Amino acid sequence: MAAPKLVMATRNRGKAEELKALLGDLTVEILTLDHFSGLAEIAETGASFRENACLKAHAVAGFTKLSALADDSGLVVDALGGKPGVYSARFAGEPSSDERNNAKLLDLLQGVPLPERTARFVCVMAFVTPEGDLKVTEGLCEGLILEEPRGTGGFGYDPLFYLPALEKTMAELSKEEKNRISHRSKAFAAMLPFLREYWQQ
Ligand code: IMP
Repeated sequence: MAAPKLVMATRNRGKAEELKALLGDLTVEILTLDHFSGLAEIAETGASFRENACLKAHAVAGFTKLSALADDSGLVVDALGGKPGVYSARFAGEPSSDERNNAKLLDLLQGVPLPERTARFVCVMAFVTPEGDLKVTEGLCEGLILEEPRGTGGFGYDPLFYLPALEKTMAELSKEEKNRISHRSKAFAAMLPFLREYWQQ
């Protein structure tokens, strides 16, 4: 029997590859938006990660008539009242730039001592079936925002995001290490039992 299809609401190959590595023995065929034409860009207009993940998953399941998985993620910094939050990608304006986003973050945190620079990466994942059923999970990764970048791996805010337990920034971890602790992998690990149940695997 052919493997069931799961459409990831992204054009980001890296994200799709990352999730494929987390599927374990679940047998599904992963498709991305690159496999479909005609679906307009989905504007992330929600006020929360949850709203954005849900609106993307519903749009993609509705368009493809297949099961869809969408995620929305970002950085939440306590000393900034939760910013950049849902604006993480375009914190320093459009076009989005990791370098300018990190510079803005450091600027806003100037003078804030390290113990008060607590932050977390948040990922909310939404799974929508062709019947319109919805399941939402969340993953968190706690850390501190350093005063200067360290490391060359990862993307986004990784060079500033310090993990006290590992004594490294996210940008100093290998892909495998990051996958073990990341907000995305935790949200996906929480989702996996529901995917298994839905496809009875
Ligand atoms: P999105 O979920 O692809 O919309 O990601 C939103 C933004 O959050 C990214 O552009 C990054 O700035 C930030 N972000 C999300 N996950 C990570 C991560 O694992 N490391 C660093 N930055 C991240």
